[in-house]
Amino acid sequence: MLVLGIESSCDETGLALYDTQQGLRAHALYSQVKMHEEYGGVVPELASRDHIRRAIPLLEQVFAESGARREDIDAIAYTQGPGLAGALLVGSSIACGLGLALDKPVLGVHHLEGHLLSPLLASDPPAFPFIALLVSGGHTQLMRVDGVGRYTMLGETLDDAAGEAFDKSAKLLGLGYPGGPAISRLAEFGDPDAYKLPRPMLHSKNLDFSFSGLKTAVLTVVKNHGDANLCEQDKANIARGFVDAIVDVLTAKCMNALKETGLKRLVIAGGVGANRQLRESLNAAAAKRRYKVYYPELEFCTDNGAMIAFAGAMRLQIDPTAAKKDYAFNVRPRWPLDSLAAP
Ligand code: ATP
Ligand code: MG
Ligand code: FE
Repeated sequence: MLVLGIESSCDETGLALYDTQQGLRAHALYSQVKMHEEYGGVVPELASRDHIRRAIPLLEQVFAESGARREDIDAIAYTQGPGLAGALLVGSSIACGLGLALDKPVLGVHHLEGHLLSPLLASDPPAFPFIALLVSGGHTQLMRVDGVGRYTMLGETLDDAAGEAFDKSAKLLGLGYPGGPAISRLAEFGDPDAYKLPRPMLHSKNLDFSFSGLKTAVLTVVKNHGDANLCEQDKANIARGFVDAIVDVLTAKCMNALKETGLKRLVIAGGVGANRQLRESLNAAAAKRRYKVYYPELEFCTDNGAMIAFAGAMRLQIDPTAAKKDYAFNVRPRWPLDSLAAP
C-alpha cells in the first residue's frame, strides 16, 4: 500500500510517500522558520499563505524522487489537527482536492499520533506496549501506548510545554527563534554549578509537569544581572542551569512512569527529543534500570510529512476502510490525543 502524507499544522510543510512494503520512498520538507523569525514566533496568516506556496512543488518533488505516479497511491493521509486552523485547512484542502481528482480515499491524521509513532520509522522500532514522552513545541505529555490509537494519558504539563520553555528562555537570552537548539548548544559551555534553577514538580506524586516557573526563574536571573551586563559566559551558565533543570525533571518523570506501569520501553517523540542533553540523561538513567529508550531519526523529531504518511499507513493496515472518498473536510485545531479510537 502506498500512502501520500501531507503535514501543514504549523510552520513546516511536509510531503511524503510511505510504502508498507518498501518503507519511506520519498519525503520533502520546507520550514518557514526564517520567515517567522523576525516576529519572534509563528504568525498564523503568514503560515497559511506559505503552505499554499510550498505544498505543490514539494508534492511534485516526492513523486519525482520516488518514481511513483499519482495513480499509484492507495490513499492520502493529511494532518487534520491539532494545529493552526488556517494552516490545517491548506493541507486538508490539497488532500481532498487531490483525492477527488485521482479518485483516491483520504484519511485525517492526528498530528500528535504522527509524532508518537515516528520512532517506529527508525531501523530498530520498539514493540508495543511502551511509555511515550511527547515533548514538542506545544505539548508535554506522558502516555501509555498499547497499540495504534490505544493511548492512555499518564500526565501532562499544567502550563508551558517543554519546547515552549526552551524557546521562551532562549528568547530571554537573546538567542532568536526557535531557540531550543541554540540554548542547548550554549549550555555546553556553561558551568553547571553557577545557577541552580528550580525543578518544578520533580517530587510531586503524579506524572504532571509545569515549566512556566522555570522560565520565570530564567527571567529573574537575567533581570538581576541587568540585561546589558550579560556576557557570553553568563549566558552560557544560565543556559546550562536551565537545560539541567528541565532535563532532570523530564528524565525523573519518565523513570517514574516506567516504574509505575512496569513497562520496559520508553519512546521519545517531538522536537525536544532532538536535544542532546536529554538523550544523554535518558540513556544513562534507562541503562541503570535496564530499560530501553527509542528515538525518532533526528530529521523526524520536528514536524514532517513522513510521520503523517506513516501514521496513516499504520491505521490503514489495521482498517483499510479508515480512508474514505469523502472530501468534505473538517479540520480540528483542538483535538485531544487520548480521545482517538483504535482502528
Ligand atoms: P506540536 O507538535 O506540539 O504542535 P510543534 O510541532 O511546533 O508542536 P515540534 O516541531 O515537534 O513542535 O518541535 C519544535 C520544538 O522543539 C521547538 O520548541 C524547538 O525549540 C524544540 N527543539 C528542537 N530541537 C531542539 C533541541 N535540540 N533542543 C531543545 N529543543 C529543541
Ligand atoms: Mg515547527
Ligand atoms: Fe509537531
